[in-house]
Amino acid sequence: MRKKLVAGNWKMNNDVVESTALAKSIKSLSGEFDADVEVLICPAFTSLYSVKQELCGSNIKIGAQNMHYEDKGAYTGEVSPVMLKNMGIEYVIIGHSERRQLFFEDDETVNKKLKAALKHGLKPILCVGETLEQREGNVEKETVRNQVTKAFEGIGADDAVKITVAYEPVWAIGTGKTATSVQANEMAAFIRKSIAKIYSLEVSENVLIQYGGSVKKDNANEILTQSDIDGALVGGASLQSLEFLNIINYAK
Ligand code: PEP
Repeated sequence: MRKKLVAGNWKMNNDVVESTALAKSIKSLSGEFDADVEVLICPAFTSLYSVKQELCGSNIKIGAQNMHYEDKGAYTGEVSPVMLKNMGIEYVIIGHSERRQLFFEDDETVNKKLKAALKHGLKPILCVGETLEQREGNVEKETVRNQVTKAFEGIGADDAVKITVAYEPVWAIGTGKTATSVQANEMAAFIRKSIAKIYSLEVSENVLIQYGGSVKKDNANEILTQSDIDGALVGGASLQSLEFLNIINYAK
C-alpha cells in the first residue's frame, strides 16, 4: 500500500521570518493531519535551516526545491546535494517545469540531478508534464513518456522506487486551471505503465505518483481519491496553513 505524500512547494516566496511563521502555523495544525499521509514542505534555500529547526519534534518533512548535481566546486550560486544532506534535508524537487522552462534544465540535467540526489540519500520528487501546445497537439503522452524514460536512464530498480513522480501539466501550474480528475488519473496510470516497461510491475506499483497544478481544497478531494494518484505537489495553496491542511486531509 502506497503512503500518500502531500508536498508544499513555496517557490520563491517568504523570507526567513515569514517562512518560520508559516512552518510554525502548519506545525500547530499537525495534530489534525491524517496519520496515513506524509506531509512535506519545500521552502526557499535561505529558509531551509530555520524551517527545519521550527519543525523539530513534528512529523513534517522538509525538502529543497532544486540542487546541483555536483558535490562541490566552482558553480557560483548553486547548492549541492551534500550541503542539503548535511543540513538534514530529506527530499528534493527535481526538474520542476519552472526550472525546465525558465532556467533551461533539460532531461539530461534532470537525470544527472536524480542520480546525484539518490547517491547522497536524498528522496527526489521528479516533475514531468506537458505544455498546453503539446496537449492540444495530442502528444502529451509521448512527451511525458520521453521525460520519464530519460529521467530514469541508468537508475537501478532499487533506487527507482525511491523516486516520487509528480505529474504537473505545465498549463495547470499557477494558472488556476486544473486537469480533470480523469485526465490526471489517466496520465498517472500511463506514467506507472511506462515505469513498469522500464523496470517491472512491482517497481511501478511502489513508485509514488503525485498530481500538481492548481490543487486547492475545493478540487483536492476529487483528484486525491483517484486510484493512481498518491498525493499532490501544491504551490500557491500551500502558502496558507488552513488551505494546506484541508488538502492534506483529503489525501486519505
Ligand atoms: C507547483 O509549483 O508545483 C504547483 C503545482 O503550483 P500551483 O499549485 O500553484 O499550480
